[in-house]
Amino acid sequence: MLDVVNLQANYGAAPALWDVSLNVAKGELVCVVGPNGAGKSTLINVIAGLHRAKGGKLAFDGKDITQLPSHRFCSTGIAIVPEGRRLFTGMTVLENLELGSFLPHAKQQRSASLARVLSLFPALKQKLQSPAGSLSGGQQQMVAIGRAMMSRPQLLLLDEPSLGLAPAVVLDMFKAIRDINAQGTSVLLVEQNVAMAMEIARRAYVLEEGRIVADGLAKDLLERPEIQKAYLGIETH
Ligand code: ATP
Repeated sequence: MLDVVNLQANYGAAPALWDVSLNVAKGELVCVVGPNGAGKSTLINVIAGLHRAKGGKLAFDGKDITQLPSHRFCSTGIAIVPEGRRLFTGMTVLENLELGSFLPHAKQQRSASLARVLSLFPALKQKLQSPAGSLSGGQQQMVAIGRAMMSRPQLLLLDEPSLGLAPAVVLDMFKAIRDINAQGTSVLLVEQNVAMAMEIARRAYVLEEGRIVADGLAKDLLERPEIQKAYLGIETH
């Protein structure tokens, strides 16, 4: 479904991604984990058309989308939940959600999409008329994911959905992401929360200093001593 081949990205002259290749198959939940500054947000932003690639190729459903203008990305079937959520905080929760369904095919299915979002995130039912900015951090993250789901994406890109959330809320968030995937949406998740991300993902890539340094089935990567040591704080002797 998504093929990223030898992707390179820079900020000015400074490289942020070097020859990154990865893929997400239809129906898969794949995560990219790595430390602060590894290039995870850059990768998600390049795939969503928000940052231009310097080299390499992006293909979605067999179509080359490397040079697609950013405003055309929504209609390809890719939706992004950016780091920091970027909600319209003065608008109501319902208005924020409806903004996700502005394209004609999504608008037609707006009420069914809203019902699905509210079944994923029941806490939002009582908050539909509240300003998005009045919600807790966890609820705002639910609105951001809900808004992306209102566009009926085939592929959902999630940039650090657990950032800044309390542990109990993080658990709910990961459960919702797993449910979204189980209901048929492919997911590419980037996370610093390695243990939780690998728990729900089928496959994982480890990104360090702009390069993929390991990849495989998440359950296999979790058994590797170097991953346990670097990311899970487990020392094996
Ligand atoms: P974090 O978890 O902190 O968001 P990350 O893995 O998402 O980290 P990126 O934000 O993609 O990493 O950053 C990758 C590299 O690019 C870092 O060295 C960062 O300092 C640099 N960088 C990111 N955004 C910019 C920018 N707008 N201008 C210049 N350099 C940037």
